Amino acid sequence: MGIGIDIGGTAIKGGIVDHNGVILEERMVNTQNQMGYAQVLSDLVLLIKELHHFSPEETTVGIGIPGILSADGATVVSCPNLNWKNRPLKKDLEKELSLEVLLVNDATAACIAEAAFGSTRGRSSSVMLTLGTGVGGGVIINDRVISGAHGVASEVGHMIMAENFYNCNCGKNGCLETFASATALIRYCHKRLAEGVESDLKTSENFDARRIFEAAKAGDSLALAAVNRLARYLGWAIANISDLIDPEIFTIGGGLSGAGEFLLERIKAETKSRLTYPASAMPEIVLASFRNDAGVVGAANLSRFI
Ligand SMILES: [Zn+2]
Repeated sequence: MGIGIDIGGTAIKGGIVDHNGVILEERMVNTQNQMGYAQVLSDLVLLIKELHHFSPEETTVGIGIPGILSADGATVVSCPNLNWKNRPLKKDLEKELSLEVLLVNDATAACIAEAAFGSTRGRSSSVMLTLGTGVGGGVIINDRVISGAHGVASEVGHMIMAENFYNCNCGKNGCLETFASATALIRYCHKRLAEGVESDLKTSENFDARRIFEAAKAGDSLALAAVNRLARYLGWAIANISDLIDPEIFTIGGGLSGAGEFLLERIKAETKSRLTYPASAMPEIVLASFRNDAGVVGAANLSRFI
């Protein structure tokens, strides 16, 4: 059993997770970010105490954060979604709780959930890419999460791939996230439409990534080009990561992974074309098993992977 918390921009979810990765008790509160750090902190304390009441034998709580943590995992260095900078969250929570608090990046939490119970179960080295509004990443080597000397390892989404026509939210140009996220797909299609390219997407002004995948599957040439472009950069990123750390398996999660085999087969082909030793070193690439619970389940199992 374990207690896991997933802090998001709109909601804080928490749960008691059993030995099979199933959430037995679940609680959720709105993230009252506009009320400031102290309010979110007191909501967190209440939520964790309530969960601890159901499972009093627990000695730790794992918390997934959508941001960068310090190398010692004690401080939230940067969390743009919540407007937090250098918040000593571990110390602030442990003052109020009779539990040890462990913090983890939310994409790494998802990577742990997959490694403990999902698509990469039983593999000692795995890399997860989460494709949503942005691109997140998690890296596990020898059953340990990799956070790096400065706490910023596994920020896969900000690897520089090539020059791009718009800048990333982080301020740089050329990040993987600007080629391989839902945002990237939508912006690329809008740019090509503005250049006069013909497409069925023209009929709906506010199309989303799901609509682009539908159009691509129906043979729309712009949508297909956009999906192929996304798969190409993802394949290159996977080949780069393989050349660097050679993990056994990659798993693709986040909202865009809902596109399934249509996306996966393209990513595999692009990866294969860019590997240095393709015959021997092609990693397995699969779709993530978890959908909405990965953050809570992974955070609850963090102590097994650090
Ligand atoms: Zn970036």
